Amino acid sequence: MASSSRTLALIKPDAVSRNLTGRIIDHILGAGFGIVALKQIHLGSEQAQAFYAVHRERPFYDSLVEFMTSGPTVALVLEKQGAVPAWRDAMGATNPEEAADGTIRKLFGESVERNCSHGSDSDENAALEIGFFFSTEELLRSRSPG
Ligand code: UDP
Ligand code: MG
Repeated sequence: MASSSRTLALIKPDAVSRNLTGRIIDHILGAGFGIVALKQIHLGSEQAQAFYAVHRERPFYDSLVEFMTSGPTVALVLEKQGAVPAWRDAMGATNPEEAADGTIRKLFGESVERNCSHGSDSDENAALEIGFFFSTEELLRSRSPG
């Protein structure tokens, strides 16, 4: 049996400000993910710019950075077999209008920008994005005492 892998999930500021954190975490647990680590953090401009640096030439970049700094974000490290594609399936398409029924973006997303959630797009990026939000010590200490 393949071993489990990890992905980075964000509950974006639109969802946190609408008090959807609990419902989205319910969705995560209901879909069979383990939560390895979790924190709430209000991103600064430099952090949001760096996190989305791959999109810096895109027309939506400045607006995206402004949105991502508009309030707190909840960051989670999720674990499951095939965590990266499994979490992207659970979120649904980037544009909520195109997302499948029952997905987080379909259920809760308001627009292509305000789509409630982020998920890593490859195992390599998952490792980088997990490191962006969590220290090695936080990951080690999150599941066992001492
Ligand atoms: N985004 C946007 N306009 C677009 C495309 C993307 O505002 O036309 C935002 C949206 O919040 C999205 C994020 O930029 O989640 C990152 O875009 P990406 O294409 O990586 O989509 P994702 O991987 O989040 O599905
Ligand atoms: Mg992406």
